[in-house]
Amino acid sequence: MSKIQMKNAIAELDGDEMTRVLWQVIKDKLLLPFVDLKVEYYDLGLKERDDSDDAVTYKAAEAIKRLGVGVKCATITSNAARMEEYQLKQLTPSPNGIIRAELDGTVFRKPIIVNNIKGTVSCWQKPLILGRHAYGDVYKNCEIAVDGPGKAELVFTAADGTEIRKTIMEMKGPGILQGIHNTDKSIESFARCCFFYGLSEKVDVWFATKDTISKTYDGRFKEIFQQVYDKEFKAEFEKAGLEYFYTLIDDAVARVMQSPGGFLWACKNYDGDVMSDMVASASGSLAMMTSVLVSPDGVFEYEAAHGTVQRHYYRYLKGEKTSTNPVALIFAWTGALAKRGELDGTPELVEYAQKLEKATLDTIQDGIMTGDLAKIANPPAKQVLDSWQFIDAIAQRL
Ligand code: NAP
Ligand code: MG
Repeated sequence: MSKIQMKNAIAELDGDEMTRVLWQVIKDKLLLPFVDLKVEYYDLGLKERDDSDDAVTYKAAEAIKRLGVGVKCATITSNAARMEEYQLKQLTPSPNGIIRAELDGTVFRKPIIVNNIKGTVSCWQKPLILGRHAYGDVYKNCEIAVDGPGKAELVFTAADGTEIRKTIMEMKGPGILQGIHNTDKSIESFARCCFFYGLSEKVDVWFATKDTISKTYDGRFKEIFQQVYDKEFKAEFEKAGLEYFYTLIDDAVARVMQSPGGFLWACKNYDGDVMSDMVASASGSLAMMTSVLVSPDGVFEYEAAHGTVQRHYYRYLKGEKTSTNPVALIFAWTGALAKRGELDGTPELVEYAQKLEKATLDTIQDGIMTGDLAKIANPPAKQVLDSWQFIDAIAQRL
């Protein structure tokens, strides 16, 4: 059999611990036998990041921007314990944080659905995708607690010295105060990422705020989304038969809980924090969740939603063949390869990615799965395999 050819490369970002081990198994068993893989490889293992003072992370981010598509393994974010464990020179910032900032991107999370793992919300037939704005609001706030009466004011001093001053509250006694902000630029980028994602995945986009109460602050979010949509995306959405839908956040929550899913729910920072955990928990397992970082100019980086599965790695180091679920890692690769094929006009690459996804899901739906899923499968699993056996079972089907 001749291998499927790729026109352009994707940026491959290797990672740490159990996910690094499985990354290689997935490549050896599911990718390399079928595809003449063209990648620019960057080793984002913790030691490499430390040795290069994070230069490798910035180079990888540049490669994703240049090539348009990246795929990333999970990586350790260093802390005091890791510093000792890996004999690091320094505490390095989160690589995901660096890449997100370099791409000015938004992360979208989407459950992977199989018919024998039931989510807890029975009406969600299709994946409910969540996009969270990752800048500002209460996450960059300024707070004061006051002990007694006084006047709380909101003051803005413009660069030219002119002032805007408004009274927040004449405080009659002790209380609390908070200042928050966002920027037009960040909201515009967020809106663009959401609309790009909607077009890419061919799903409607929902956005919601509380603009009836917060007429200026949330009102600005609503205005910017509408402007970006009308100016840059409306024609393409209509051509694709897609819709942009705006509503109030409480109305959105009520509708989401009765909807069949299958759309992107764009959320402000706090709403996204809360709702993404709700959606993840409702869908059963972090290993059945894809995650993609999209930049406002349409660059895509695919990854798993979970971390490096440290506890399994330590058992693996002692010689155990762990039953770590590789599905989200496999889907990171299929997402990246399908996007590459779509951008390059190589349908055979897209088709291969679809076949690999189908082989993975069919294996689970036939009752063959890893331990995490066996705990929640209904009907019960027929075979519970270790990661290597499970990947072999997928390869056989493929
Ligand atoms: P984790 O890797 O998400 O794993 C936490 C627990 O969730 C595991 O111990 C396991 O539970 C379960 N789990 C997660 N993924 C699984 C899978 N594929 N198959 C089966 N079970 C799975 O989080 P962590 O162990 O707390 O963090 C390890 C490292 O990951 C940290 O250093 C953190 O910085 C990093 N991290 C990286 C990313 C990223 O790069 N995207 C994201 C989050 C965390 P059981 O042990 O009960 O089986
Ligand atoms: Mg949270």
